[in-house]
Amino acid sequence: MSEFFKQVSRRKFIVTAGASASAILLKGCLGNPPETVAGNSSTGGTATTAVPVANTSPEQKPETTKVKLGYIPIVESAPLIIAKEKGFFAKYGMPDVELAKQASWGSARDNVEIGSAGGGIDGGQWQMPMPHMISEGLITKGNQKIPMYVLCQLNTHGNGIAVASKHTGKIALRLDGAKSLISQLKSSTPFTAAMTFPQVNQDLWIRYWMAAGGIDPDTDIKLLTVPAAQTVANMKTGTMDAFSTGDPWPYRIVKDNIGFMAALTAEIWKNHPEEYLAMRGDWVDQNPKATKALLKGVIEAQQWLDNFDNRKEAAEILAGRNYFNLPVEILIDPFQGVYDMGDGRKINDKALAAYYWKDEKGSVSYPYKSHDLWFITENVRWGFLPKDYIDNGAAKARELIDRVNKENIWKEAAREMNIAAADIPTDTSRGVEEFFDGVKFDPAKPEEYLKSLKIKKVAI
Ligand code: CA
Repeated sequence: MSEFFKQVSRRKFIVTAGASASAILLKGCLGNPPETVAGNSSTGGTATTAVPVANTSPEQKPETTKVKLGYIPIVESAPLIIAKEKGFFAKYGMPDVELAKQASWGSARDNVEIGSAGGGIDGGQWQMPMPHMISEGLITKGNQKIPMYVLCQLNTHGNGIAVASKHTGKIALRLDGAKSLISQLKSSTPFTAAMTFPQVNQDLWIRYWMAAGGIDPDTDIKLLTVPAAQTVANMKTGTMDAFSTGDPWPYRIVKDNIGFMAALTAEIWKNHPEEYLAMRGDWVDQNPKATKALLKGVIEAQQWLDNFDNRKEAAEILAGRNYFNLPVEILIDPFQGVYDMGDGRKINDKALAAYYWKDEKGSVSYPYKSHDLWFITENVRWGFLPKDYIDNGAAKARELIDRVNKENIWKEAAREMNIAAADIPTDTSRGVEEFFDGVKFDPAKPEEYLKSLKIKKVAI
């Protein structure tokens, strides 16, 4: 190595996004481990964020510097936005990542079907198990099978169930006391709840919560797919009783005095799996190094986000006009685990805030296959997927998960960026999971879990 490059390396060479040519020039020459990014007080001007260049080896040079990722403006998208705005994508050789706000989950699905070459997206943020459903052709046009790869989990927590003000005091995390109200309404105007896309997280959270309280989400209430903004309008006019979605939406309901939060998803299932980064399989197959570079950028953003000292800055970046376009105050409190639930209940518990890198149970970023299996099992529970997915030790579900979940790529990226071995899971299963009602999900025996549930659609 020349004296010049040694000096550069020691000085933590700084480039801006606009000087990425020098970043590329240097990248191949420095053999040191990636440098840690120190806290930066900038509030995220895209072109001016200064980042050190990762000292990646020539064999890690991405095949392309460009990719188009879709996102939905909720806290789940934070690692993608922070990776771009704080320069972490650029640091790993991907200065041209484009983030495209998606109008709805349905349009994200439509856009990934056509890919960026057709004016769509190469991948991005997903509820689960959307990547599996797209891979199986279950929610695509003409049932076309488009292989998708899950690369990492984006976050845990950060979601909740909002309920209209008129039910204050009658509906809470434990629904046992609400059963008579729900059955009363059933004979006139049924309790109406909404989520933003069927068969995925937000639908599954509200269903789990209802069923745990003895309410059958298929027969006792009306459950609809409605865009978040529309739901808020409907709740204002009194035609919507509840909805399940990510921050900032539930929190806005409280701030605007439209309703209250009956439950945080963190209360229903602490450290639960939430949303994921997944890409078109063909893009990953063609760009394996760029895929790992992307993952490294996301991982570093996740680590940055889990430093609570950075969260005010994160809220400022996310709230910006280019991204969520809302008052920053709405994001600041939830990011610290501070929730005014709107019914007199106040939560101030960092353990219930959104996490991006690590939580009490292990890795947040690493995509555990056992979590994919829960989402698929829950789809079987509600009759969205046929029972044969979990027959014979869930062989069909496991085969699908092995095709879609690329945890091995996550591990390669983590090793290349010198993540501590303790932070790289050695098992694709996180083990037995426990919900707020005491129900347990053992990923080794999904059929036993289904048998243990009182309310379900599948005959088992
Ligand atoms: Ca969510």
